[in-house]
Amino acid sequence: MYVDVHAHLIHPSFAGEEDAVAARAAAAGLDFVIVNGLEPRSNRAVLELCDRHPHLLPALGVYPVDAVASKIDRAAWTHPFDPPAPFDVDAEIDYIDSVADRLVAVGECGLDQYWVTDQAEEQERVLRRLCEVAMRHDLPVILHTRKAERRTLEIVRELGVDKADFHCFGGKLALAREVAEAGYYLSIPPVVVRAEAFQRYALHLPLERLLTETDSPYMGPVRDARNEPANVPLGVAAMAEARGIGADAMAEAIRDNFRRLFGR
Ligand SMILES: [Zn+2]
Repeated sequence: MYVDVHAHLIHPSFAGEEDAVAARAAAAGLDFVIVNGLEPRSNRAVLELCDRHPHLLPALGVYPVDAVASKIDRAAWTHPFDPPAPFDVDAEIDYIDSVADRLVAVGECGLDQYWVTDQAEEQERVLRRLCEVAMRHDLPVILHTRKAERRTLEIVRELGVDKADFHCFGGKLALAREVAEAGYYLSIPPVVVRAEAFQRYALHLPLERLLTETDSPYMGPVRDARNEPANVPLGVAAMAEARGIGADAMAEAIRDNFRRLFGR
């Protein structure tokens, strides 16, 4: 009865263990895990993995940092990981469009002004194109909004996107309320067991707008430990406790929301 709307099972930390992780998710009671792609290589691997497991559902996208890979000033890059490799972003959006009938959502996509701060315009262009693909195929978008939460909300509203999940939202509670009032969903990761900001969302946002995710391998219940979809029940329990309702009632509400947004 649990769901994970955002997991990166195509990630080096899961290499060779993807099938075992999928099996543990099912054993933990997850009905569905939406596996999100980021760029050409992971997008294709997501489709292949989901073909093998009926409870894994594919969402393909272009991550906002990858979206500007060809424009990053590599000499000035100071983050503790390599900048992403450049690729033909528009060709990748066309590819996503061409396989849209196999997807449950378009994403991960969105804006990021945390890792890259000087490419907002190009990120917005890519986001708009991906939203258009999603709308043409009547699919939801799964949005990354880091340090650009309000701008992302403005863009999807302006485009008339009617189905969206804001994943790992980092904006203020008032802005999260605006997201919910616009009819969009917010998905909460298992880090909620130790992160007060997510506990506040679980308490104050309308129950019918909440979803669960893991952002695996990130955002787990234990600091620095690899996260995986089987941890969703821990997150649901923490959300239920924050809200003062039973864990089963919380899980059922989230499951209903998933059905409404993704049709499964
Ligand atoms: Zn992600």
